[in-house]
Amino acid sequence: MNERYDEVIRLLSERGVSRDDIARCIIFLQKRYDENISHAKCLEVTDKVLNDPDIQNAIIISLELDRLAEKDILESRYIKEAMMKDDGLFGVDELIGLGMAFNYGPIAITNFGYIDKVKPDIIGKLNAPEDGTCNTFIDDVVGALAACGASLLAHE
Ligand code: MG
Repeated sequence: MNERYDEVIRLLSERGVSRDDIARCIIFLQKRYDENISHAKCLEVTDKVLNDPDIQNAIIISLELDRLAEKDILESRYIKEAMMKDDGLFGVDELIGLGMAFNYGPIAITNFGYIDKVKPDIIGKLNAPEDGTCNTFIDDVVGALAACGASLLAHE
């Protein structure tokens, strides 16, 4: 585990997301292919994905953007408003998630689209934030992390 791994774990946990939450989303994606899939195995691939420097950068910038929108220090009113109401036509959050999934191949890409639609577990909770909280980017980040982890499992 590298230094940025610890940073990423800390940032995610500040936003209410744990490794266990990501592992549960991987189980959601993979259980139809392996009904005996273990939580421990899903945690293992979660950590592999969370150690990828490209993924780490995507997480850090995404969570930073959510925080900046909440603090109301984004210069663009358009971006601030789109982010605070999680405008479905904004789409940059999904593009970052897709970008993360692209590095992990077609299984990750299709799983990202699927989990973004179904929004299981933590993703559903993130998608309905309290007033004043901006979760525009983090829900896609978590969906992408699960999709990438599911792809690693599928290829094992
Ligand atoms: Mg989003």
